[in-house]
This record gives sequence, structure tokens and C-alpha cells, in this order.
Amino acid sequence: MKERLFHFLFPEVCIVCGKLLMPSEYGCCSSCMNAFETFPDCTAAGHTLLHSIESHFRGKCSFERAYCRYVYHRNSPLQKALHAMKYEGMFNLGKAFGRELGVWILDAVPSESIDCLVPVPLHPLKRIDRSFNQAEKIAEGMAEVFHKPVRSDILVRTVYTATQTGLAISERRKNLEGAFRTPLSDIPGRILLVDDVVTTGSTVVAAASALRNGGAGSISVAALALTGKE
Ligand SMILES: [Zn+2]
Repeated sequence: MKERLFHFLFPEVCIVCGKLLMPSEYGCCSSCMNAFETFPDCTAAGHTLLHSIESHFRGKCSFERAYCRYVYHRNSPLQKALHAMKYEGMFNLGKAFGRELGVWILDAVPSESIDCLVPVPLHPLKRIDRSFNQAEKIAEGMAEVFHKPVRSDILVRTVYTATQTGLAISERRKNLEGAFRTPLSDIPGRILLVDDVVTTGSTVVAAASALRNGGAGSISVAALALTGKE
């Protein structure tokens, strides 16, 4: 009741189309959510993501499985929504995206195949600046569907990197070498690594490398979106 009254007094609008939101919607209306470009099939999307990462890392990528929901383009409505999620503090939108991704994956794969979700961490200084980690919010949304824990404690980012946008793959890789480490000795066997947008895969490959060195048995990767060809 309180929520309804609050919504009546302070109606919110969709970050993409500007229409008034329903009380059950957060940040983005359901028709915009449904209009974002998606991959047609979960398995095919996974192969596309794996192939994209392998094409940049030639055999250095050994993800067990890969999952991806959306195709990301610059200046698209999806970019607008993800930008708002990341930079305008709309963390509940991250959770909503995470639930979408979780349902999409569970249609194809049982949740028993993983032990926990591990969001790609931000450097502590960046996290303070942004106040939350968008990958963690996506993982929290996925966890509501998977009923598996989010383990933000087993991977930390020790190197501060400026935005990777516009950098060549070699520069991205160099910037991220040794950027992550695992502070714990007891690492779960089957990990699903979670990130928001994968472009070249440099970040998830560096994160997976740290998890593998820390003792993880199998690592899969779930990205909300993969950058499409412009
Ligand atoms: Zn909308």
C-alpha cells in the first residue's frame, strides 16, 4: 500500500522511452525490456560468446560453458538502460536484468551444474566511486532464480584500470594481466562468473585465470550482453 501511494505521488518514468512506469516496473518498462535485441537461442548464444572470446585469445580461454542474453550496440536503447544502471545508481535494474538472464539460462541448463555465482569485481576505489558493483547486482538477480549463493568474497580486483573502451585487444590484455586474485584458499569447484557486457573478453579471461590459479575446477561465464559488430 505504501509503495502504491509513493508511486502515485512520485511516478517514475522509463529510462529508455520516457513512459510512466507501472508500480511493478523499475527503471525500464516491460515493453522496452522486451524490445532489446536478444540472441534467439541460449545454446547458440553461448557458442557465439565462446567463439568471440576464443577468437581474441586463441586457445587461452577454457570456459566450460558460456551464456549471454542480449546483443549490445552503441547508441542503442539497451546501452541507454545499461548506462543508467551503471552510472545513475539504478541497481534494481541490474537485478531485473539478472533475473531475465537467470530464467534464460535455466531454460537450457539445470542450476545443479554450478556451485555459486561470482561477479567480476570492481577495484575497491571504483566501487566506492560508483557505490555498487553492477555485475554483483546482475548476479543477485540471477541468484533469485538459481537459488545458488553469490560469492563476492572469493575474487578481488587488485589493479585499478581506467575504462577499456577504445583500447586495442593487446592493451586491454596488458592492463588486466594479474588484475585479479583469490584471497581465500577454499574455492568452490564449479563457478559461474558473471559480468555485464563482454567486448573482447579480456576481463572475464583475466578473472577466470585468477580463479583457476586459486583452485576452481570448472568455470563458466554468463554475460548480460555481448558487443555486436558495429
Ligand atoms: Zn520504456
